[in-house]
Amino acid sequence: MQIQILGTGSGMPSPELNASCVLVKTDIMTFLWDAGEGCSRSLLNVQIPKNELDAVLITHLHPDHISGIFMLIQMLYLQGREKALKLYLPEREAEFHQMLQFFYIFPRRFDFDLQILPLSKVSEDFPEISICKNDHLWGYQDLIESHKLPNQLGAFSLKLSSPKGDFVYSSDLHTTDSIADFVRGAHTLLVDAGHPELQQIQKLREYGLKRILLTHECRPETRKWLGENPDSRYQEAIQGHKYVI
Ligand SMILES: [Zn+2]
Repeated sequence: MQIQILGTGSGMPSPELNASCVLVKTDIMTFLWDAGEGCSRSLLNVQIPKNELDAVLITHLHPDHISGIFMLIQMLYLQGREKALKLYLPEREAEFHQMLQFFYIFPRRFDFDLQILPLSKVSEDFPEISICKNDHLWGYQDLIESHKLPNQLGAFSLKLSSPKGDFVYSSDLHTTDSIADFVRGAHTLLVDAGHPELQQIQKLREYGLKRILLTHECRPETRKWLGENPDSRYQEAIQGHKYVI
């Protein structure tokens, strides 16, 4: 498989870095994992044909992971896409339909079938993909409960399995402990190194990983530790670079 990280930025906009977005290709499938701001332009830059994407998976609803989805849908409509597109959301699919209407995006006018589906069902359509709920949004629990808000705290890590090795994308998380079993034995992990503390990034050495790509803008202490203790398994993810398993 080929992994191209189209956005290595964090929730804070940056002049150089795009928001979270990963293009994952196998011999027969092409997926977009997260659709942060600028993802449409990135797809144009890497010359993805209008009918190539099979599915878009959104790990959680923070803007740096989903803000590009409306322009992506609009682009595919204007390009005249014909092939059905599956869009997997971590929660609240019905409200997403309303948001499309809010933006004057009407799927009934499309030449393609936009299928909005719960991320919890992705393995039924793509058995090589599995998901793991992580602890990224747990800090909102008290606020959501006390105000009786409809948010469901859906934040997920994703895995694509292949005979040559598995690729895991942590997406954002509070601790790597929350996905330890999910990550163990994978070939490549693309991990949020902006939220977890240094010790949580160090623990990843114990999981038998061959490559640990740090994204979402490294914490300064993590970058310092890596500079002082080089370990060939750890690399800062390079935006635009293609990684192969
Ligand atoms: Zn994020």
